[in-house]
Parts: sequence; structure tokens; C-alpha cells
Amino acid sequence: MTTVGILGGGQLARMLALSGAPLGLRFLVLDSTPDACAAQFAPLLQADYRDQAGLAEFASRVDVATFDFENVPAESAQWLADRVPVFPSPRALAVAQDRLAEKSLFRELGIPVPEFAAIDSRAGLDAALAKIGTPCILKTRRLGYDGKGQFRLKSPADADAAWDALGAQAGTVGLILEGFVAFQRELSVVAVRGRDGELRAWPLTENWHESGILSASLAPARVDPALQAQALGAARKIAEALDYVGVFALELFLKDGVLLANEMAPRVHNSGHWTIEGAETSQFQNHLRAVLGLPLGDTRAVGHSCMLNWIGTLPAAAPVLAEACGHWHDYGKSPREGRKVGHATFRADSRGELAAALDRAGRMLDRSAQVAPVLGRLAES
Ligand code: ATP
Ligand code: MG
Ligand code: MG
Repeated sequence: MTTVGILGGGQLARMLALSGAPLGLRFLVLDSTPDACAAQFAPLLQADYRDQAGLAEFASRVDVATFDFENVPAESAQWLADRVPVFPSPRALAVAQDRLAEKSLFRELGIPVPEFAAIDSRAGLDAALAKIGTPCILKTRRLGYDGKGQFRLKSPADADAAWDALGAQAGTVGLILEGFVAFQRELSVVAVRGRDGELRAWPLTENWHESGILSASLAPARVDPALQAQALGAARKIAEALDYVGVFALELFLKDGVLLANEMAPRVHNSGHWTIEGAETSQFQNHLRAVLGLPLGDTRAVGHSCMLNWIGTLPAAAPVLAEACGHWHDYGKSPREGRKVGHATFRADSRGELAAALDRAGRMLDRSAQVAPVLGRLAES
């Protein structure tokens, strides 16, 4: 009996555990909160990531460890890796945790990135603003997610407000200034690399965000096939440079035919949730196969999929369940503003069928605005 340890007990851990059940796997989730939603399906070890006694017990009870949460302290990941196999490696995790380190790596590898500069003082912000110009975004280097820890500057006059909002963090998590990319599309490539170095990627996904949080994904993205090859090439370079094992996502901006890398997530990713129903093998199943050294499954898409995220509160399930191609995912979390509490995936054999189901469900759920950009893309010839 193999036990997979997961650091972090959110919906990603929950979906990993659900997907590992057919493989006969056991799980142990480490999380500091008693109501971690993965604990509804996997035993929970309640401890802080920095608690050495907790980490020691975790290490003694698992055969291999992986992450649901990318901000596990790098030292804790390393402490564990000295005792049990940990995938992805603490080094890969450390690079992906720091926007400056990851963008510097992308640039070294020849992958286009938005303009960026490290900021460590107010004078540094002014100097970077003079170089990068506006609009731009000031971001914390570490610990940001769902658009948190970011301030958008429309003109240099916003520098004071940006510094008031984030300046105090310059000396702690660090700051980075990025040029704002007026992209035509937002895309992501979700890929998996096995312990033997084999790399596979799912088709490119197009993503739409609302207030910095993923709102909808469409896969396969309707883009020039050359872009798929470009994205896969970038993902391969990064995975090989980090000797990465497991699933990761690379978020990309498409601007004037060029893919610019925004960030990577060293774990299964929200933009890959559609793979549960929409691909031959899901990202969750392939992540487990990768960390266990099992053969990877086929990543081809089966038809056309759209995933809608439920943020804050869950809408009624019935209009989704009433669709032949509708699939419901309730994470078992209590409602809270800005919190990801579930998602729905629509998977159909044709784009027309997908559009019709999305349109109907969108109206029934009063979510027409959320499905509108996806319907717009599906309607393009
Ligand atoms: P995630 O939840 O994906 O980890 P995050 O908090 O790490 O998000 P980013 O992915 O950097 O933040 O930014 C969130 C969203 O804000 C992006 O998906 C994109 O829509 C927008 N955004 C971020 N950086 C830029 C940029 N340089 N130019 C244009 N838009 C941007
Ligand atoms: Mg991020
Ligand atoms: Mg992001």
C-alpha cells in the first residue's frame, strides 16, 4: 500500500485524492486548519508547515510527498526531502515561489517575458518606473495568489499609492515591477514530467480572469497550432532546467503572435481542471503517476471543454447537472468572498454543442456575463 503525502489540504489535494483512489493509493494531508477540504477524503495531520514534530510524523507515515500549496517554506520542503522523496524538488519549488527568480530563469532560457525589475526601495520604484513606463503592475515577489499582493499603476502619479499599498513588503517578501501587457489572449500550458524525464502536455487552454481570479477556461484553445509548439517548447526548457517531476502550469500572454511567460505554478493548476472530464488522462492522475514513477497517461483532449469557476458561493447545481455534458465539482468549503468553492466543466464532442449547453446553463444560473467571452470565442469561425 503506497501512501502519498500532500502538503496543503485545499481543493487541489482533494482532487488528487479522488483521482488516486482508482490507483489504490492512500493519502495523508498536512494542513494547519482542521476544516481543510481535502480532509473529507484523506486523513489529515494537523500541523504547521514549520512544525518539525509535525513534519517528522508526516515523513514517517508517507512513501512520497508532493504539494497542493506552492508556498510551503522551502526549508520545510528541504527538511522533508532529506527524509522522503519529494516531487517537485525543493529547488524547483523555490524558483516558482519567487516571481523574480522565475522570470530571471525564463529570460535565461530565452523565453520571452514582460519587462520587469526588482524593487527594494521607493527610489528603486521611481527608477524602474522611468525605465519600464506605465501602465505597469507592482507585485509582491512571494506569497501572492489570485491577484493578491498586486497594485496596478496607470501613470507615474500612482507611485505614492502603490508604495503605500505594498512598500512595507519590500524588505520581507520583496517586490517586482512588471510592464503591463495589453495581451490579446491569456493562455496556459499544463504539462507533466515523469521521473524518467518524459514530458507530456495537454492542449493549450485559453483563460479569462475577473479581478485577478480565474473565471473561465476553454480547451483546446482556438489558436494557431504553431503556438502550441511554442508553448510546449517553453514548458520543456523550464522543466528540464529545474529537473522537474510532476504537473506544472505555465501562464502565458499572447500579444501580437508572441507568447510572453507570466508565471509558473509548481503543481496541478486551476486551468487544468477541465482535464478531469475533457482529457484522456487528467492532470491529477498524471501528477500522481509522475511522482510515483508510473507510466504517464495520454494527455489528448476528448472533445471540447469549458470550465467555469465558482468564486465566493456555489450557484445551483441543477442547471449544470441537467446538461448532458455538464459536470459538477463542489469542494465542500464554506462560502467566503473571493474563495474558490467549486467549478463546473462542460465537455462536448463539438464546439456547437458546447456553446449551446453553456448558453443555456449561463442563463439559468444568471451567469451569462461569465460565459459570454467563452461563447464569443466559440462563435469565431
Ligand atoms: P494565480 O492565482 O494565477 O497564481 P497570481 O496572484 O500569482 O495569480 P498573476 O498570475 O501574476 O497573479 O496575475 C493575475 C492576473 O492578472 C493574470 O492572470 C493576468 O490576467 C493579470 N496580469 C498579471 N500580470 C500582468 C501583466 N504583467 N500584464 C497584464 N496583465 C497581467
Ligand atoms: Mg501565481
Ligand atoms: Mg497567475
